[in-house]
Amino acid sequence: MAKIGINIATGSLQQAEMIVGIDLGTTNSLVAIIHPETKQPVALREFNTSSLVPSIVHFDEFGNPTVGETARQFLEVDPQHTIFSAKRLMGKSYKDIQENAGYFAYKVIDDNTESLVKVQVGDQFFSPIELSSFILKELKQRAEHILKTPVTKAVITVPAYFNDAQRQATRDAGKLAGLDVMRIVNEPTAASLAYGLGLKADQEATIAVYDLGGGTFDVSILQISNGIFEVLSTNGDTYLGGDDLDRAIMQFWMQAGGITMEDLKQHQTLAQGLRLKAEEAKKHLSSHDRFSTDWNGEVLSITKAEFEGLIAPLIAKTINCCTRALADAKLTADKIDTVVMVGGSTRVPAVKAAVSAFFGKPVNDSVNPDEVVALGAAIQADILAGNNKDFLLLDITPLSLGIETMGGLMDVLVPRNAKIPTSVGRQYTTHVDGQGSMRISVYQGERDLVKDNRKLAEFNLTGIPGMPAGLPKVEVQFLIDADGILIVKAKELRSGVEQSIEVKPQFGLTDAEVEQMLLDSLTNAKQDMVTRALVEARTEGEQILAVTEKFIGKNQAQLTQAELIDTAAAMQALQLALTMEDKNLIQSKIEELNEISRPFAERAMDQAVSGALKGKSI
Ligand code: AMP
Repeated sequence: MAKIGINIATGSLQQAEMIVGIDLGTTNSLVAIIHPETKQPVALREFNTSSLVPSIVHFDEFGNPTVGETARQFLEVDPQHTIFSAKRLMGKSYKDIQENAGYFAYKVIDDNTESLVKVQVGDQFFSPIELSSFILKELKQRAEHILKTPVTKAVITVPAYFNDAQRQATRDAGKLAGLDVMRIVNEPTAASLAYGLGLKADQEATIAVYDLGGGTFDVSILQISNGIFEVLSTNGDTYLGGDDLDRAIMQFWMQAGGITMEDLKQHQTLAQGLRLKAEEAKKHLSSHDRFSTDWNGEVLSITKAEFEGLIAPLIAKTINCCTRALADAKLTADKIDTVVMVGGSTRVPAVKAAVSAFFGKPVNDSVNPDEVVALGAAIQADILAGNNKDFLLLDITPLSLGIETMGGLMDVLVPRNAKIPTSVGRQYTTHVDGQGSMRISVYQGERDLVKDNRKLAEFNLTGIPGMPAGLPKVEVQFLIDADGILIVKAKELRSGVEQSIEVKPQFGLTDAEVEQMLLDSLTNAKQDMVTRALVEARTEGEQILAVTEKFIGKNQAQLTQAELIDTAAAMQALQLALTMEDKNLIQSKIEELNEISRPFAERAMDQAVSGALKGKSI
């Protein structure tokens, strides 16, 4: 039950605790709610202002942050202290962004390429999480000011391609800002919700969400069925957006007017003026056929046709991404039921026309493309608040997740492309007698040997009571929640000792890296299979040798002379086979030894079990 309160200022009834929807964007951020009276989603705005809050943080000389429009004024005049696009740094190491380091006008710390990035402002260092938390705090305060009620709970959206680390970082930013993050939702899913898609339980649809913002582009293919959203594929270019359209116009004018980069570098304010004029022209041309203005005593003009000629290659790039997204989803354009437009740059008519032509149907653009994601987040928040039927929002894992087993092998628990949320358990055991702890190393990737995959986390399950090798039953469980966050639990079932860890990967993977890992796994698949089979055979051989040796040491007196001689010979043959790269030979020697030692092994097992039950160590 939602609590109801009275707003003293206005006398109106309102929910005491409201869950807001937040679009934490690269360029702009905003908050939306379900209006308590109309039940419709609305973006929050102060009277007569825009709902959009520029995702920019400026630090004054004392290190105090301001966020939004005020901070934006400092972009050109105080670039060292004005942080934009912090979202691009979320969950990333310097290595991840090295290629695009020139993009950031502020100082991104590059001394240790392996750890997460920090931004230096004066003598202070900020993580992208802290920077995002400043933006979220500002949004929270604005919302509280407008709603006249505390705002402590939120749904925050992230791009569908965000990995675990980036989702976790977003969650942490929310926490730092004093928000209880109820759910992390994919931006394309939120946009679809804003169009009412997926809100009917029996609805089945395949949706393409085309999102062209200020600096980023992505396209996602979603499938809705039974109120469940599934991301089938995503594609895009994280450095392509409206800014590039502005730049195209700037260059057009520079060429026409013989203006060089050098000229602009010398006159920063002139350059900024030209950039603003270019953006103005672009917006104007969305609803007019030509644009003309004065700049530095010159007349600058451009027609819609000229503009469309300039941006055709950029639009073509986005359409290529759509082709790839469809291919990854194993679909053709005619299988897409609905196309949803997101991001301010989809207001450009040529963009709409190209997308509509590609998918062969009109696009959905009736909801404000700047607000559509936040509005959808508000709908999701409302569902979570219990005011609407609860929906599961499904995702897929981009890479397989598993743990390291004997011989450095990758044992996959959650395969690539598995639907989440999910929970998978598997039992393991010890391989050394009296082993009191077990190391659980979690990896992500497609290769058979963990050394070729990416380590996400590691922990020790300790306190396993002394038992012979093979006896403890350790259940390892992977739980991936709807936000895509992985929790790994290990429990020794006989004793009940338990340990768990929430996986916060140290650094994010770029799309290119995920792709590379998949390619590597294909290229090396055959060799990997051979290696895996050999490692498995060797591990098994070593274990059998150890068990047999131990048994003979203890029970020599109870074995006949013939048994002893046969066993020793079979052990020697296996030992020798282990030094060779021949899996079949190892397996046949294992079988031979097994044949001879099976009765002993069984006897040992029986004794061990009864001993363990009595609580005795063996
Ligand atoms: P977003 O990141 O979604 O806030 O998108 C902002 C981008 O949309 C900026 O590049 C704006 O210049 C662009 N934009 C906003 N309004 C229009 C318009 N009417 N026509 C073309 N582009 C626009």
